[in-house]
Amino acid sequence: MRADVRCVTVLFLVVAVIPVTNATAKAPRPDFVDLSTRQARLFLERVRRAPGPFSQAVAANYGRLRVMRARSKIGGGDYSVASISGEGTRFTVALSPRALKPGHWGDHMTAHELGHVIINAVFDGAAWVDAFELFGLSGNWHDCFADAGAEGGCVPPDEILADQLAFYATGYSAARSAYRVPPLANRDAFGDLLPRLIGR
Ligand SMILES: [Zn+2]
Repeated sequence: MRADVRCVTVLFLVVAVIPVTNATAKAPRPDFVDLSTRQARLFLERVRRAPGPFSQAVAANYGRLRVMRARSKIGGGDYSVASISGEGTRFTVALSPRALKPGHWGDHMTAHELGHVIINAVFDGAAWVDAFELFGLSGNWHDCFADAGAEGGCVPPDEILADQLAFYATGYSAARSAYRVPPLANRDAFGDLLPRLIGR
């Protein structure tokens, strides 16, 4: 049961120009590739419910974000891809059927994948250092969180950070991604820090 529910994030360097598929005169929103109206509404509601710094950082990237149903078993279906080209960076978030249903777990996984978008879109090296300095103060901190899906490896830092952004976004600390990383920051403390991290 481990590898089938792991979330992965993939960074592709794309040389070819990626066609712009989200040109629209309406209010900015992601390109909901194949989501139902109800699923798209739930996605937008999840972003709106998050605190301002998270919500605004995601919405600022709506114009270059595609959201689609999982089409592979990668990460149990929940994964994010950043495609970098001469046109800039574009993001794809894929969500499993379970994540596209209402509930705390789907809230968490959606925010986790959007956490990857925020990290790739706006976090610089100093932001990483500041964030992990805060996490290191937590009584839950470990130098290595065992990654059950990686044969003795540690959970990668970007997955730790994506989970912390998800806890912050949802305000719900009991949900876990497959990485099983617990909350590592008080929500208020992370909330105080986040605007500086994403505003550099
Ligand atoms: Zn992830």
